[in-house]
Amino acid sequence: MSPRTAFEGTVLRREVLSDHLIRLELGGPGLAGFTSTGVPDEWVALTVPGQFQTRYYTVRSWDSSTLVLDVVMHEEGLVTEWAQTSSEGQTVGISLPRGSFTLPDNAEWLVLVGDLTALPAVGRITETVFDIPVTAYVEAPDAPLAGYLPIDVTWLRPPAAGRSALAEVVRGIDWPAGPGYFWMAGESAQMRDIRRHVRHDVGMDARAYDVMGYWSGSRGRQTRAVDPGPIYARGKAMGKTDEQIWADYDAARDGAKHDPS
Ligand SMILES: Cc1cc2nc3c(=O)[nH]c(=O)nc-3n(C[C@H](O)[C@H](O)[C@H](O)COP(=O)(O)OP(=O)(O)OC[C@H]3O[C@@H](n4cnc5c(N)ncnc54)[C@H](O)[C@@H]3O)c2cc1C
Repeated sequence: MSPRTAFEGTVLRREVLSDHLIRLELGGPGLAGFTSTGVPDEWVALTVPGQFQTRYYTVRSWDSSTLVLDVVMHEEGLVTEWAQTSSEGQTVGISLPRGSFTLPDNAEWLVLVGDLTALPAVGRITETVFDIPVTAYVEAPDAPLAGYLPIDVTWLRPPAAGRSALAEVVRGIDWPAGPGYFWMAGESAQMRDIRRHVRHDVGMDARAYDVMGYWSGSRGRQTRAVDPGPIYARGKAMGKTDEQIWADYDAARDGAKHDPS
């Protein structure tokens, strides 16, 4: 079995959480040995039946037997289309999990920003960070999901279907004083813009933020996925920071856009 499908999970349950969000509960003997990294934004690569391409999903929860993924429904998409239909009872491939969120020991505040694809990670992060003030902004086409998050967040509507204005939101943030941590995920071009902003305009230290591109609005439907796993492992082995690794990942994804194969 390849590292991309280190495990196999059977879809035990499919639940519609909102117009654009479907929860999949995976279980079965193929998940024996799955171990969470404990990092609250950890993700796995998901391979749906009949496909070799993978897509990345946050582990919303893992309780030693059931793996929960919350999957956003886009206008089109490989996993989108599969999850909209009869996924129950089917078997999917699951990779080893990896995470990125690294709260510095001296952080006195946490700011989270993301779109609907980032909501599962925002959910898990807010369930694990209790001892410092947490502020969160979520851009979602659906009405706020009651009970999904343990804290109050600012819900924002995207400017149009498939578009995001989160970069603008971040530029308007009045940053708390003292050392803290900023975590953000969403559309890749906006994330690049925001990395530059927090580094150069706000002057954040590279360890004080983690800004990740979860999807590309400009790329259109992909024929090939770029696997962040090897890029992450290679970057770590080379001693790169998470910021540098995500920049490599973004560059690889942009390169894939021009890949004619
Ligand atoms: C580390 C990581 C964790 C992630 N966690 C989650 C998660 O928990 N839940 C989740 O739903 N997604 C998550 N994503 C994002 C998800 O992997 C992508 O959105 C993926 O492209 C969706 O696959 P698909 O097969 O449905 O659509 P694809 O076939 O990949 O894309 C089809 C079309 O949809 C567009 N598209 C893709 N994503 C979006 C979007 N968010 N908004 C508007 N248009 C979009 C594309 O531009 C393309 O035109 C995560 C991504 C990463 C890198």
